Amino acid sequence: MKVTTLEDKPNYLKLLIEDADPATVNALRRTILGEVPTMAIDEIYIYENSSSIWDEYIAHRLAMVPLKTDLKMIPIPMTKDKQDSYTVTLNLDVEGPKTVYSSDLQSSDPKVRPVSGKIPIVDLLEGQRLRLEAKAIPGIGEWHAKWQPGLASYQMVFNVDASGCENKKECVESCPRKALKLEGDKIVFDPLKCNGCGECRKSGAIVSEDRSKFIFFIETNGQVTAKEVLNAAIKILISKAKQMGNDINEYTKK
Ligand code: SF4
Repeated sequence: MKVTTLEDKPNYLKLLIEDADPATVNALRRTILGEVPTMAIDEIYIYENSSSIWDEYIAHRLAMVPLKTDLKMIPIPMTKDKQDSYTVTLNLDVEGPKTVYSSDLQSSDPKVRPVSGKIPIVDLLEGQRLRLEAKAIPGIGEWHAKWQPGLASYQMVFNVDASGCENKKECVESCPRKALKLEGDKIVFDPLKCNGCGECRKSGAIVSEDRSKFIFFIETNGQVTAKEVLNAAIKILISKAKQMGNDINEYTKK
């Protein structure tokens, strides 16, 4: 398998994966969505809430606030029995009139704090107060979406044979992604721009899938970087493969 980085930003990674198959690439995608851990609020003790919003609403909003996560502090792969290995407390004590934002949460660990301080929680009027203590623990997207580190997806790479296009200019102009270019009297195709929409077929081009090449996207919510997500997912897949190998060995000994 060959992997080439096409775009590399802290929260976004675009890769070209070659010599792979859909099952492997999909396993990577599912591992990212369901098994790479992050920190999220899981328990809340509300001591005072005189706002117009119910406790449950506020608890749900706080649970969905993405928290910066240090993956070095979290066991990978994550299991339920390891969840309490790392706990961070976030306190909130505010009085109205005020809009309460995620930046009002005071964390016991500066490494675990809201990704953005601009997430509104509740509006407090004059004399209203919100006082609570929240407990953040690690978890995975398979248990609840609040722990999901972001999104992962992939698309096939397509081959386009435009040699059969009678009107080359029309064929090139039919492509909404500018994947076709006229150089002299030849049509040049850029597979990294093509999404397989098939518009160029109307001008005589032949579009086919290359099932060994994929463009892979990772976009995080900011708890961890896209590279950290990728590395953690690979670590999890390797550990699962080892476990499966051991299980097969044990089974064949019986
Ligand atoms: S399949 Fe769509 S994106 Fe790809 S070259 Fe043809 S028109 Fe362009």
